[in-house]
Amino acid sequence: MSNVLNWQLGREMEYPYDAAYPDQQFAFVFNTNRCIGCQTCTMACKSTWTFSKGQEYMWWNNVETKPYGGYPHHWDVKTLDLLEQANPGGQNWGGKAEDLKAPYGKFNGKTVFEAAKTFIGPEGANRALGYLPTDDEWSAPNRYEDHPVGNEKGVKGQYFKGGELLPEHKTWFFYLARICNHCSYPACLAACPRNAIYKRPEDGIVLVDQERCRGYRKCMEACPYKKTYYRGTTRTTEKCIGCYPRVEGKDQATAGLPMQTRCMSSCIGHIRLQGLIEMNKDGTWKEARNNPLYYLIHVAKVALPLYPQFGTEPNGYYIPPRWVSRPYLRQMFGPGVDDAIERYSAPDRELLAVLQLFGKDQRICDRYEIKEGTKVFETEVRGKKLVMYNDTVIGYAKDGTKIIETTVEEPLHVRPDKHANSI
Ligand code: SF4
Ligand code: SF4
Repeated sequence: MSNVLNWQLGREMEYPYDAAYPDQQFAFVFNTNRCIGCQTCTMACKSTWTFSKGQEYMWWNNVETKPYGGYPHHWDVKTLDLLEQANPGGQNWGGKAEDLKAPYGKFNGKTVFEAAKTFIGPEGANRALGYLPTDDEWSAPNRYEDHPVGNEKGVKGQYFKGGELLPEHKTWFFYLARICNHCSYPACLAACPRNAIYKRPEDGIVLVDQERCRGYRKCMEACPYKKTYYRGTTRTTEKCIGCYPRVEGKDQATAGLPMQTRCMSSCIGHIRLQGLIEMNKDGTWKEARNNPLYYLIHVAKVALPLYPQFGTEPNGYYIPPRWVSRPYLRQMFGPGVDDAIERYSAPDRELLAVLQLFGKDQRICDRYEIKEGTKVFETEVRGKKLVMYNDTVIGYAKDGTKIIETTVEEPLHVRPDKHANSI
């Protein structure tokens, strides 16, 4: 085991290999407040990469209804439970939040790598704590869709008064869209006895070498997010490939510019924003104040990693849903949740502008600038002033090409009379 810096945990942790970081890291932000559970992303991925024999149960992108839904069933509850068994009562956070190296304070518990030493099986200790889902758990990818949770019961035939009031709805569910997190410390890679899994130095995308893989499924057992899938027809494991030909700019549509993945660019809810993050030598992010992901994660701090306590340093970040039970969200996204929701609920001028970049163009936005517009609206959100300006936000690709120009107020298009009934 080596000691590596996991900045999401605010400390060093044990990992089976020495630290090795890519020049740029594939990363993304999903805004759960905007997801409508339409599964367009899921089908975009399925119809591109996993439509063949043996791939029937592969959903590299899936959208599950929380808290009950999950694919495979209960993947997160099961892993959380294993960690709790390994470290009873000790899976908690403390310490002070600091920029870049400890933005959420310090995690005092055990990661899947550290907890693995407490479970010694007949073959010795695993490299990561995990479990292999059963065939049944891989069935029904959208089980519990739209099932809410809530303690208070309404009265039949009567409107449930006050159930929808913030900060927490009395009855709630939300959609959690998921893909492989192309983790900085992938558990799948750590567990593979064949060294078949590798992380690309140019963009940090995690891939399975189909020639080397022998289908031992150690990666499936180890990945806490359960994002690798066994293919019976080839007896190998497959996983999300981050649409790497698009990220490399090989799609004819973008004339060589890096392009967002199929799931990102097909999202009709405009919840997704993908980026390529430049890394420091110690694994922290190079300061890039006007990169939209850097801004959302390190400056505005509204987007948080999914289950950072697992320890893989996932590169998927989420703006948490405003209406959901806070203890549940703290468990899922860590201690930054309350501040993130506060900031998102009454966004300042810059945040409001940056949020408009989501879903506006298929190409990857590397930098934004804002041109100030006029004030259009003012209100109060739970005691906090919210002022809206119709600013213009402009997005640029890495080579300086202008790819986005949009305003905070959505432009209104009036259909001409002659097309009024053309649907
Ligand atoms: S999410 Fe799972 S499959 Fe993807 S890189 Fe992380 S550990 Fe590997
Ligand atoms: S396409 Fe977007 S809005 Fe629809 S389910 Fe997927 S992430 Fe949610």
